[in-house]
Amino acid sequence: PYESYPYEQVLKIRQRNLSASLITYYKKPLLIHQGHMQWLFDSEGRRYLDLFGGIVTISVGQCHPKVMVAAQKQLGRLWHTTNIHLHPSLHEYAVKLTALFPEPLKVLYLTNSGSEANDLAMLMARCYTQSFDIINLRGGYHGSSPYTLGLTAVGLYKYAIANSFGCHATICPDVYRGIWGGSHCRDSPVQTTRKCCCSPDCCEAKDRYIEQLKEMLNTCVPRRIAGFIAESIQGLGGVVQYPKEFLKEAYQLIRARGGVCIADEVQTGFARTGSHFWGFQSHDIIPDIVTMAKGIANGFPMAAVVTSKEISDSLNHAMHFNTFGGNPVACAIGSAVLDVIEEDGLQRNSEAVGTYMLLELAKLQDKFNIIGDVRGKGLMIGVEMVTDQESRKPLPPEEVNLIWEDCKEMGVVIGKGGLYGQVFRIKPPMCITVEDVDFAIAVFSAALTRQMERRAAAN
Ligand code: PMP
Repeated sequence: PYESYPYEQVLKIRQRNLSASLITYYKKPLLIHQGHMQWLFDSEGRRYLDLFGGIVTISVGQCHPKVMVAAQKQLGRLWHTTNIHLHPSLHEYAVKLTALFPEPLKVLYLTNSGSEANDLAMLMARCYTQSFDIINLRGGYHGSSPYTLGLTAVGLYKYAIANSFGCHATICPDVYRGIWGGSHCRDSPVQTTRKCCCSPDCCEAKDRYIEQLKEMLNTCVPRRIAGFIAESIQGLGGVVQYPKEFLKEAYQLIRARGGVCIADEVQTGFARTGSHFWGFQSHDIIPDIVTMAKGIANGFPMAAVVTSKEISDSLNHAMHFNTFGGNPVACAIGSAVLDVIEEDGLQRNSEAVGTYMLLELAKLQDKFNIIGDVRGKGLMIGVEMVTDQESRKPLPPEEVNLIWEDCKEMGVVIGKGGLYGQVFRIKPPMCITVEDVDFAIAVFSAALTRQMERRAAAN
């Protein structure tokens, strides 16, 4: 069907009619014609194992048959109402999704993107607390709308406009690269699977990051604040895991200042971390507001906010309006995604296959001195590349890119992130198998070997 759009022409259209600020992966970008579960097929019919799922968005698999049937059924029934009329699909979804949250998180809002969900969460926090200031973590990504851009503390995404008014980015408690870094705690709820020494330096670092947060609260904001937002594991920031208890203590400090706590589950939600359905559950905390997007509808535009009735009621003095939020087709797809996660055992799969992959990657870390850290949980995995394990200096982007391009040439698509672009991000559709991991590890190992040879030749 796309024969009239050959590769060169698509590339030209991209250059002429689409913004140059659109991120495009690879020197020779892939022209993807089709997807099936964890696989992508390009215009030449080449198959790729997709370890990034269109940036952590394909949760249950491209064109998953059960999700497709649900979408088609709804498309033949009702497309849209803007919720001025009742329709079953939204209400069925509201029951199913809120059942997955502890009390008092039982009120649902639907939006179309993670940015919109976080916008709404900020608005709620401000209306409920009648305060303005919000604390976020450096390295976090929470959206690109003017409101959420203030929370996105990654310079690459910042425009020179007054976008951070009332947003205060505190230091991210990164125990590998952070200024008080160490190593991951063995009994951390967000542990790596090896080289965890239950290190006192991790706990010590946590205390320092908490002290830093206290200092910020005492110096940068009024006595009463609107809230705090954090991802349960930082995504774009480079799959950054915080020391055990950090979020718990941070939540206590924020609540003591009248603020509400927002968990951004856009990447960590929907069973991705394996041990739990939501990332925040690993931290033994209950947020006041939870935001979701990406994997919620397996690539269909949809996002959500869940909160308590008390907080939600604070928005009632004005109309809440969102034309497409709660769209019947989106809700039918979201509902099917929840069914598939359950029926296909995808949470168990995330845990089992993710842990297997972490262990296999850890073996590569022993072999290749340019792998500094292997971390993550379930199928939210980061591999931090360094010039050598001793110095922990970020591997320069040119070198990271060579490995990344080689993986693609050998049929494996991987994501990237980290403040220096030094972290490979592995967050595949959750239907991935152990055999797929074996293939990916063989490819990654070959790409690393090639890079070590290039380094040796250069020296
Ligand atoms: N929060 C997180 C953690 C994200 O990763 C993203 C998207 N990268 C967003 C929010 C914003 O979502 P969207 O792109 O759908 O607006």
